[in-house]
Amino acid sequence: MTAFRQSDPAKSRKQHMHPTHFDTHTLDNLPTPLPACNLWLADGVLRQHIERHGGGWAAAQLSDLGGRAGGELVTLGEQANLHRPRLRSFDRYGRRIDEVEFHPAYHQIMQVAMAAGVHAFSWNHADRRGAHVARAGLMYLCSQAEAGTACPLTMTHAAVAALRHAPELAADWLPRITTRDYDSRSLPAAQKTACTIGMGMTEKQGGSDVRSNSTRAHPQGDGSYRIVGHKWFYSAPMCDAHLVLAQAEGGLSCFLLPRILPDGSLNAVRIQRLKDKLGDWSNASAEVEFTGALAWRVGEEGRGVATILGMVALTRLDCMIGSAATMRAALSQALHHTAQRHAFGRLLSEQPLMCNVLADLALESEAALALTLRVARAIDASPRDPREAAFGRIATAIGKYWVCKRTPMQVNEAQECLGGIGYVEENILPRLYRQAPLNSIWEGSGNVQCLDVLRALSREPDCREALFAELESVRGAHADYDAHLQRLQQAFERSDALETRSRRLVEDTALALQGAELLRAGDAAVADTFCRSRLGGEHGYSFGTLPADAPLKALMERSRLT
Ligand SMILES: Cc1cc2nc3c(=O)[nH]c(=O)nc-3n(C[C@H](O)[C@H](O)[C@H](O)COP(=O)(O)OP(=O)(O)OC[C@H]3O[C@@H](n4cnc5c(N)ncnc54)[C@H](O)[C@@H]3O)c2cc1C
Repeated sequence: MTAFRQSDPAKSRKQHMHPTHFDTHTLDNLPTPLPACNLWLADGVLRQHIERHGGGWAAAQLSDLGGRAGGELVTLGEQANLHRPRLRSFDRYGRRIDEVEFHPAYHQIMQVAMAAGVHAFSWNHADRRGAHVARAGLMYLCSQAEAGTACPLTMTHAAVAALRHAPELAADWLPRITTRDYDSRSLPAAQKTACTIGMGMTEKQGGSDVRSNSTRAHPQGDGSYRIVGHKWFYSAPMCDAHLVLAQAEGGLSCFLLPRILPDGSLNAVRIQRLKDKLGDWSNASAEVEFTGALAWRVGEEGRGVATILGMVALTRLDCMIGSAATMRAALSQALHHTAQRHAFGRLLSEQPLMCNVLADLALESEAALALTLRVARAIDASPRDPREAAFGRIATAIGKYWVCKRTPMQVNEAQECLGGIGYVEENILPRLYRQAPLNSIWEGSGNVQCLDVLRALSREPDCREALFAELESVRGAHADYDAHLQRLQQAFERSDALETRSRRLVEDTALALQGAELLRAGDAAVADTFCRSRLGGEHGYSFGTLPADAPLKALMERSRLT
């Protein structure tokens, strides 16, 4: 392993606090890096929304992880991204091993995250209301420090929903999936203390249209199948098993495909190469071929899409959580930097135009979090409340579309607040910027989410009802909201060119949901400024275009980590 740069926040803070004398110049006006803090205790906005949605009972666990996510995980995250995973196809003697080697920091982050239950808290506390909300909070905290590990964590969490379609497999695997341990050893699942799960749907010829999957499943007569074909994006290939789609005689079906077989041999999954990705560097995404890999069916033959959709609903929620966390991390950096850097005789954070930018970024970040946690609450309530289930079904697609879509723009603007160093790798902003577009592509890209919303509207009348009941419940709270809702209802009543118009429909619905959520949350500065700017037209195309009489300072201060 090459030597790696280890930053010492305490040391660098000390250096920045006193003017440094060079031969030619003396340095001042240098901000300190964001100090270590507890990302739960320091974030009043997060605490308020978690509380509102019924996850406040997990404050102790959230605080515990918040301390680590704002401390040691920051440094570990830097290291895990600096040293990207490496594919080792063969051992020294030429035996095929198909292993991906990760930096130790990656494993340490996984260890901390799994001990905190980022992958399992909702299942461990399934009998308590708000468990999915609390778990969303854990994911939000962890993802601010490091986002690549979120991939195996989210897939492991979500796999539980699909595995329940195969009770025998579930009985065998779930205890090791939902345990609060991390075991990275390459051993048969039965010999491990804990397992992680990935998913393989996307093939070279089609990712959105999974029905075009060409990978085939051949029954062996004993309940198992041999899988022959390929997957084009197979992230976290070191997971103990992946849920994959393949064509069986009865149609596209879902299978659990372990990496190591019960006898200790390597399953026939050949890692062809790792993707050279724009970002997400701590995490590996592989291209694989299955040359007769052994797998077990999950759910009925021909019901593969329906089976894996239970998993996809949860990973889509996690895309929202991850994107909201990325925005939060970028915002925290921007607020911190501008409160210490002077230009033209004043702190940047006191320059009127910068205030507008920062307040706008804070508003976007809170709106993203508010909608995300509302969806998490709906998922939480789904098993006992059909209306919440219907709302969660449609709001996940709406929220995934909008929150993920807004993230790259928001992060870029935060980056600009730091000026030149916002573009320099010693800083987390470039990493956040590279990560920002991922969630809008993964698990159904933007258009696919919009089409999914239309599908829900046309096939599941309960979804439309639940959606509008939600929106109607705050009618009367703000004039801009009411006018927006009326326009939205008219747009929904039209049946022409629905598909072509669906981005606009979904965007306007997402904004309405965010407005409703913020109005319900009760902070007048946030709700009024959101409704005026996002719903009432008092906003431009870029951030920093809030109306001049908006309570900019209050919005900034509300989101500052304290
Ligand atoms: C970092 C990363 C990790 C990933 N990890 C995994 C993984 O672990 N497992 C896995 O299975 N997949 C994974 N994916 C793949 C991802 O889910 C797919 O790339 C995605 O679903 C899109 O599929 P595609 O690339 O084949 O694009 P296509 O399906 O070709 O789509 C291209 C574009 O066309 C749009 N489009 C598609 N159909 C329509 C339509 N009817 N109307 C209008 N527009 C349409 C899409 O929205 C998209 O914008 C990963 C992707 C990334 C970037």
